Amino acid sequence: MSKVMKPATLTNHPPTVEVPPDNHPLVAPVYQSVKFEFDSVDETLRNLRGERPGFFYQRSANPTTRQLELTLAALQNRADCLVCASGVGAINGTLLALTRADDHVLCFVETYGPTRQFIRRTLARFGVRHTMLSIEDLAGVERVLASTTTRLMIFESPTNPLNKIADIAALTALARRHGALTLLDNTFAGFHQHWQYPIDYYLHSLTKYASGHGDVMGGAVIADAEAIRRLRSDFTLLGGALDPHAAFLVQRGLKTYTLRYREQSASALKIAGFLSQHGAVARVHYAGLATHAQHALASRQMTEFGALLSVELRGGADAGRRFAEALQLFAIAASLGATESLVIPPQLMGTQDLSAAELVLSGIGPGTVRLAIGLEDVDDLLADIGQALQDCEKTP
Ligand SMILES: *Cc1c(COP(=O)(O)O)cnc(C)c1O
Repeated sequence: MSKVMKPATLTNHPPTVEVPPDNHPLVAPVYQSVKFEFDSVDETLRNLRGERPGFFYQRSANPTTRQLELTLAALQNRADCLVCASGVGAINGTLLALTRADDHVLCFVETYGPTRQFIRRTLARFGVRHTMLSIEDLAGVERVLASTTTRLMIFESPTNPLNKIADIAALTALARRHGALTLLDNTFAGFHQHWQYPIDYYLHSLTKYASGHGDVMGGAVIADAEAIRRLRSDFTLLGGALDPHAAFLVQRGLKTYTLRYREQSASALKIAGFLSQHGAVARVHYAGLATHAQHALASRQMTEFGALLSVELRGGADAGRRFAEALQLFAIAASLGATESLVIPPQLMGTQDLSAAELVLSGIGPGTVRLAIGLEDVDDLLADIGQALQDCEKTP
């Protein structure tokens, strides 16, 4: 046969390579394809009506992102999951999908900054009301839920950066009694923890422990199947789909998730212990320490306490800045849960949107420094922290 197709046609219709059904790759391929076709219009329509499995357009679904969704749902011990392009996308898309004008939302001063700002600024523009309490104020939660019909309560545990522990059993019981949905941003505790509580929606940044290598962003909502089905159409319209290559990288990162979480938590505990003995440090916030005010509660709820800790330096904001700059192995950078250690000095704590009273409620002080522990050798990290603290001790 002579050559039938011209080069421009050939390069746009490359040959298909079929892998035999009894021949399996150990790592699933990346389906880097926006479009999928069926052989007929009728089958396409059946797929779009949800009457047959398959894929049509990546903004709705893709096999690589779907594999990640099923993995994450199983890890959190729930039926289904929806992934999107960032943690903020997952959280704020869920908040948008679940609320309408005049609904009331209960949130906390200790909530992740962008979540707090989304509720206070963006949702407020659409007439969604909110009350913001401290996560330590259980009596306040009861009072607000009893007096104001509340659509949902969104919270975190441990909180950022002070590792306050939310009493999840008490909060979920109160929410159920008063008909409010519960949303737990479980990014800090990870996918293997807190599954035993009746949380309606788990929210995660995949940018942190899931991918674990600081090279990809993503977010996830995990819930029962019906809850995820209801969210999916809004998420498709919001458009922040996770790219299949990013999904592949997160899936690869997850292979070492449990090892990394365990190792980084063990290092964080050692470092927290060291810091709590140091003269330059007024206070250490790490729920794994027996001296943490909520250590007993944390131990009931969690088996590992995570890679994030914070300290109050006696020397205040200046000492915090000098400490961060003197650290050699800790980058002054956002995020956590990746392989490299990071530090956030007081100047970069991101509390500008809080009033003076709210800042007091949050517990963040002028000398609060946040450390995210990576996978470096813990002895090297301890030596680095020791040398950097010498500087702070010299100041009054
Ligand atoms: C990082 C983070 C987010 C946001 O995730 P991104 O992937 O950065 O959008 C939300 N919640 C918590 C607790 C986080 O640490």
